[in-house]
Amino acid sequence: MTQTTERVNLLDLDREGLIAFCEQMGEKRFRAIQLLRWIHRHCVGDFEKMTDLAKSFRAKLIAQTEIKAPVPIWDKKSTDGTRKWLFDVGNGNAVETVFIPEDDRGTLCVSTQAGCAMGCLFCSTGKQGFNRNLKTSEIIGQLWHAEKTLREDLGVTDPADRVISNVVLMGMGEPLQNLDNVVAALKLMLDDNGYGLSRRRVTVSTCGLTLQMDKLAAAVPVALAVSLHAPTDELRDQIMPINKKHPLADLMAACKRYLAHAPRDYITFEYILLGGVNDRLEHAKALVKLVKGVSCKFNLIPFNPFPDSDLRKPDLADVKAFQDYLIGQGIVTTVRKTRGDDIDAACGQLAGNIKDKTRRAERLAQQKAQLTFLVKEA
Ligand code: SF4
Repeated sequence: MTQTTERVNLLDLDREGLIAFCEQMGEKRFRAIQLLRWIHRHCVGDFEKMTDLAKSFRAKLIAQTEIKAPVPIWDKKSTDGTRKWLFDVGNGNAVETVFIPEDDRGTLCVSTQAGCAMGCLFCSTGKQGFNRNLKTSEIIGQLWHAEKTLREDLGVTDPADRVISNVVLMGMGEPLQNLDNVVAALKLMLDDNGYGLSRRRVTVSTCGLTLQMDKLAAAVPVALAVSLHAPTDELRDQIMPINKKHPLADLMAACKRYLAHAPRDYITFEYILLGGVNDRLEHAKALVKLVKGVSCKFNLIPFNPFPDSDLRKPDLADVKAFQDYLIGQGIVTTVRKTRGDDIDAACGQLAGNIKDKTRRAERLAQQKAQLTFLVKEA
């Protein structure tokens, strides 16, 4: 019987991991840095092209390892330049990655889990339930594939000319529930021999896992965005179940602790405006009280309905009034522009069309039946 040994996917290894791996192969530490540069700085996936590696080392790499990013099953460009990939991560699971070009930057939005266990009511990904954590190779592989493809398309040959200047971990999943793999991927993003991104240009978004926020601050303190979405525990409990475990007072305290390590002197609060639910002036006033003492900016996101969401878009006038009130209170507040409307709608929807494996839809229906604000709105 022939035995097959599994190849080591080098995309799973950060700098320390590559060093340990090279030493285990009887190679010097500097070989790990060469590999790091070839794979992540030059975005090369073919060992034969790594010309400054000794032939014998290349032969060992070819025999024992691989550079394997998730495979795109869908790749579309919007008329506004936004590009979206749907990556196959096995067993019927798929995750989304989006590139958003702007005048002064190119931002990639990366997923960290297939599905999500957090069950936020307004989120298409949350509707799918949780399938599994992505491996480091599947997280960094989204950046690797996107940077490589965009460079090839644009004819960029100098590795110093990066197409992607910013990364946000705001795609599918709760990044801090997959902390170890996320931290390894973040280290590769920041490594000077990897993607060389500044800590200020890499943002992790969380729904508010307070203990994990402390761990992120200790491991690799990048910029932080917190999905807030409600100014009171009563309302947040209903639209974000995680709030029952980590209520707003704990979350605000965790934000203050994080600020001591953050590369920016503010936290970004993401606030999705749900028509008639959390978009009234009274909510804006309560928010200002809530975040008192937390240096922050607000990013308002008008809700984009998806099938069976049972929630509606906010009125434009309400969005404007909400923004004006926060600005009037001295809080920098932006409204997120919708991009890539012609290639699909809300985040998570594409992948959500693939499978609902965990009967999440059924559980959501029960959750909705208990919502007091929906009754009020009817
Ligand atoms: S908003 Fe984020 S944390 Fe909430 S269900 Fe969606 S992916 Fe998960």
